[in-house]
Amino acid sequence: MANIIDGKAVSAQVKEDIRLETEKLKEQGIEIGLAVVIVGNDPASQVYVRNKEKACETVGFNSYKYALPEETTEEELLALVDKLNKDDKVDGILVQLPLPKHLDDKVIINNILPEKDVDAFHPVNVGKIMIGEYSFLPCTPAGVMELIKSTGTEIAGKNCVVIGRSNIVGKPQAMLLLHQNGTVTICHSKTKDLKKVCSEADILVVAVGKPKIIDADYIKEGAVVIDVGMDRDENGKLCGDVDFESCKEKAGFITPVPGGVGPMTIAMLMKNTLTAAKMHKGLLAEAPKDEPDTKERTAWNKVMLHT
Ligand code: NAP
Repeated sequence: MANIIDGKAVSAQVKEDIRLETEKLKEQGIEIGLAVVIVGNDPASQVYVRNKEKACETVGFNSYKYALPEETTEEELLALVDKLNKDDKVDGILVQLPLPKHLDDKVIINNILPEKDVDAFHPVNVGKIMIGEYSFLPCTPAGVMELIKSTGTEIAGKNCVVIGRSNIVGKPQAMLLLHQNGTVTICHSKTKDLKKVCSEADILVVAVGKPKIIDADYIKEGAVVIDVGMDRDENGKLCGDVDFESCKEKAGFITPVPGGVGPMTIAMLMKNTLTAAKMHKGLLAEAPKDEPDTKERTAWNKVMLHT
């Protein structure tokens, strides 16, 4: 029977560390601000934005919400992004995706200042992740790394398999595991014999978006299994890509859905916003550097936990 990784508890700890640091900054007269922009009325996006506002409240950030109508033009949205780029009260800018069809996500993201791009979607930040000298890590993969770390599992030298190669989860996830000296395989819809590849994984991260496609046959005995999927089962109930009931008997550690990766994503957004604010206010001279398995690893972990 696997140890269940409690994403709610880990994320609460991350947020508490951020809250304490924010409190100290406030004593020095430093306020932190996150601008959240939502266009249109997508119900799921409304929930995500509300949760982000709540998280800001928990850690003591000012949140500035900009709710724009569905028919907002690209020109109008870019004008808002430009205004927020120049606004000193705003340390981080998040444009909730997906945008309505007539707006191009890429054009909008590319116009956010990289140093305020707390989602880490701007090509500059994506490039920095490749070379391991990042300002921000994309929130979901960064959250997954925190969850793996919480198990005490050493990544160096381990077989790490990531299923999924999206720009926001799979690819950066693989890169972060590689930076920690994992031996990384990326799988996707064209992968041959997925079961065999997965069953050799010491660490398996699943980010596919198909309910319960990974059952116990895909899992190596004692593996760390992280389920990024947020799907609906045949009864409309929230579930993951991993068949939790069968896999929990075989894995060493496993995340549930809900209560695993989900809560980490917002916690890491708060961490990125704190990092952005510290860079913006001149309190962090250099971007954190990803240098695992050396003396700096401790320093890196400290940066990850306490920026
Ligand atoms: P995505 O862009 O749709 O990517 C899915 C990936 O899965 C693709 O690379 C695809 O391969 C691969 N795939 C599809 N079917 C497969 C199969 N049968 N075997 C192997 N690989 C297969 O999705 P995403 O944005 O990365 O999200 C993945 C899941 O994570 C979704 O459930 C999403 O809701 C969830 N998610 C959760 C959070 C969170 O905070 N918890 C955050 C982000 C995403 P191809 O490239 O070949 O098409």
